Amino acid sequence: MELQNLIRDVPNFPKKGIVFKDITTLLKDPVGLSGATEELYNFAKEKKITKVAGIESRGFIFGSLLAHQLKAGFIPIRKPGKLPADKISESYSLEYGTDSIEIHKDAIVEGDRVLLHDDLLATGGTMEAACKLVEKLGGKVIQISFLIELIFLNGREKLKQYDIRSIIQYNSE
Ligand code: AMP
Repeated sequence: MELQNLIRDVPNFPKKGIVFKDITTLLKDPVGLSGATEELYNFAKEKKITKVAGIESRGFIFGSLLAHQLKAGFIPIRKPGKLPADKISESYSLEYGTDSIEIHKDAIVEGDRVLLHDDLLATGGTMEAACKLVEKLGGKVIQISFLIELIFLNGREKLKQYDIRSIIQYNSE
């Protein structure tokens, strides 16, 4: 079964001109959910990952499943104001303006081998900021994985020093 057939395109969400890649149609399919998890796991299984960091909020879903399979810990990287304890933040550019993400200072210990995961790679700004957070805390970014990659937005360019994996690619909108 083609996993790509389980992704739903929603035009003009959350705003006009964006084609939103909706993964809920894959998540609800038992074969799709386990097949996607297995493919992501296979990319990382030999990498001695100690922590998986998932980016809010859709990155938490496969991020947690991967952490469980890899027998690693899970770290949430969250939108501003959500994490309760001591944290650091990193800003990144959006089409208009900036946004930021945060991580708990004690989430990573020096030398942690980290897999970062998000549902989708678009321009790469979010993941670039997430990698900086992990590295500032002394973690080593071993791999970055995505369920979906929008190739035409060239997000890989920002992340080229890393091992980047994705299981569903789109060459155009
Ligand atoms: P970027 O920083 O441009 O790589 O954007 C990646 C983040 O925005 C991810 O957390 C995605 O969930 C979300 N995102 C960007 N574009 C889309 C899209 N077309 N469909 C669904 N999510 C998207």
